Amino acid sequence: MTTLRTVCLGTAVAVAVVASVASWPVRAEDASGCRNPPARQELDTKWPINIGLLARQLIAYRCTDYMNDVAAAVAQARDWVRQRAPQVDNAAVVLDIDETSLSNWEVLYHDHFAFFADGPCDLGAKTACGWRNWFLSARGVALSPTLDFVRLVKTLNDRSGGKVAVFFITGRRDEPQMRAATEQNLRMQGYEDWEGLYLRPPASPGFVSVYKTDIRKQIEQKYHIVANLGDQYSDLIGDPGNDHAEKCFKLPNPFYFLPPDLPPAGIKCLSH
Ligand SMILES: [Mg+2]
Repeated sequence: MTTLRTVCLGTAVAVAVVASVASWPVRAEDASGCRNPPARQELDTKWPINIGLLARQLIAYRCTDYMNDVAAAVAQARDWVRQRAPQVDNAAVVLDIDETSLSNWEVLYHDHFAFFADGPCDLGAKTACGWRNWFLSARGVALSPTLDFVRLVKTLNDRSGGKVAVFFITGRRDEPQMRAATEQNLRMQGYEDWEGLYLRPPASPGFVSVYKTDIRKQIEQKYHIVANLGDQYSDLIGDPGNDHAEKCFKLPNPFYFLPPDLPPAGIKCLSH
């Protein structure tokens, strides 16, 4: 009896695994997952949250309201920069890259919201795609509200008549291949030029927010940062009492989270 139960259980697990792998999204079939997206549904909180059901709701959100929510956040930044940049000298705008300027939705969807730092990336295969190789393939797609924003920013002048500077600060690691692929990806997607592109040095311990704040401080030695845009709080958090940007703008990203958490007192630059 015990043996039979063990066999039955083993078979059930095997079936479940096969079913799971068989439903693994494959790029060739539908790279976006939005051809037949799942329906939006309230999650049943009577039971512990089920990650499979949560993933379905993330796909539903990505295929419906996500881009409108990105556009709404970026529109706030656009209105602010239009108003503020002409009032200051050496005006600058800072942007994060991933899920702010470029979308990695294809790999997020392909990997079913799991994160694999390394390994090959073949989106036509039923195997995981490693993010390093995904980045090196330079296939991120511009988030169009952000691209339109950057194009607009480049037409603006600051108080002294100079162009508003654009800086990218990313947590991608600063190594020659990664830098080249990141620059190539940005340019291919329409982000034609920038004042500075900062990647995180390989030896940079601690939260990414510390590194990003340090870079904004460097930028502030010459520029006045009027706006900082990012999809993570870690893009926006500065020092206590100084976020090193006049205002910051949080884009939605329910697909992954990078620490640290939002401080209990919030972030001052988000108050607008
Ligand atoms: Mg990001």
